Amino acid sequence: MSSGMNMHYDVIIIGAGPAGSAAATALARQGRSVLLLEKAAHPRHKSCGGGLSARLLPYLDADLKEIVEREVRKVVFLLRKKEVSGSSAEPVAYLVRRDRFDAYLAEKARKAGAEIVENCPVRDWRETPEGVEVQSRRGPDTASFLMGADGAAGRVARKLHPDWKKHLAFALETEVPLRNKEEAVWIDLAVPRGYGWIFPKENGAAIGVADFKGKVPKPQALYSDFLGRHPLSSEAGSVPPNGCTIPIYRSAAPPLVKGRVLLIGDAGGLVDPLFGEGIFYAVRSGQMAAEAIGAAFAGRGEATSYDRAVRETFYPDFERAARMAKWIYAFPGLYLEAIRLHPGAVDLYLGILRGERTYCQFWKEVQWAFVRKFIPFKNTAG
Ligand SMILES: Cc1cc2nc3c(=O)[nH]c(=O)nc-3n(C[C@H](O)[C@H](O)[C@H](O)COP(=O)(O)OP(=O)(O)OC[C@H]3O[C@@H](n4cnc5c(N)ncnc54)[C@H](O)[C@@H]3O)c2cc1C
Repeated sequence: MSSGMNMHYDVIIIGAGPAGSAAATALARQGRSVLLLEKAAHPRHKSCGGGLSARLLPYLDADLKEIVEREVRKVVFLLRKKEVSGSSAEPVAYLVRRDRFDAYLAEKARKAGAEIVENCPVRDWRETPEGVEVQSRRGPDTASFLMGADGAAGRVARKLHPDWKKHLAFALETEVPLRNKEEAVWIDLAVPRGYGWIFPKENGAAIGVADFKGKVPKPQALYSDFLGRHPLSSEAGSVPPNGCTIPIYRSAAPPLVKGRVLLIGDAGGLVDPLFGEGIFYAVRSGQMAAEAIGAAFAGRGEATSYDRAVRETFYPDFERAARMAKWIYAFPGLYLEAIRLHPGAVDLYLGILRGERTYCQFWKEVQWAFVRKFIPFKNTAG
């Protein structure tokens, strides 16, 4: 496809993270003309643990060898001296480096036929009678639809919903060289109102702490305490952490579609409020938005069907995860004791990561297990 200025596209996407690239690939495969504008150039840094839950795999259509640094079969939850772990014969997650992973997804979009322009920050956009107009160093580009895939601090959502106060969790994270070849993923619940993580990679580990309330007076102190509790502190101490935010889901989020503009991924606040997982929802929301736009072009529906699909598919799960998060982060000791006494609950949770059940189904199963354990049923049959 030509890169002619002022060409009219079917869709312009702002931001080539997982959401933007997944949407661009899906749209290009439908035969739509797509312009994907990215302010940085791949491979670029993105603050992230890089944990992909295994349930993403069927939607990724990726060669794992090219992107995966480690397969995760064991998750350890710990609170000071206590720890409880769960294991799985099948991988529950895959660990990637975001610079490589995002470059891979963008390349996939390019190969599918999307036009990608890097080092091209979008400065502004507006709706016009025919569609949308986007301003960048290329001058104005026009399209029938615009997708905001510009991440947690993106300007598309800010302009679309000026009153929307996203709920931003605050995190400090870095990658450290790690001599010890750890296989498990560690979740440290001693971080107040959030958790710390150690995600092993090929030549090191992603480590960090997140506060899910997002109003930490002394984040550095949380981070130093976390390092002090773990043997890798001597290696991590010299690497300054990056401060960043995670736009976690909160009830009463505004519509993700307004006119001809759609919000996907972090731009739409689509991050699980329990552990801050966002990559799965970024890729899936990008694909779902592409499907809705495809249907709109084909005269089979409206772009707003994307908002409905997200509300039906993800929001009930986010609500359930938010309720679990409230409880777990308020009483981490109780939570750890509960899963120590009932290791089956950890297996059920790992099933969410493998895509075997949703948070809502998980909760029903936990309730049933509780009822079966404590309310004796008499078998009156026969
Ligand atoms: C510390 C931390 C740890 C995390 N760990 C995990 C994890 O282990 N697993 C997980 O699933 N999720 C994790 N997340 C969440 C995950 O990183 C995000 O949910 C995910 O990156 C969202 O993808 P996205 O494509 O919506 O946005 P992004 O990945 O943020 O991509 C947005 C893109 O838009 C570009 N952009 C921004 N503004 C403009 C502009 N004006 N013009 C053009 N381009 C623009 C940016 O350069 C960027 O490339 C973590 C987040 C943080 C902060």
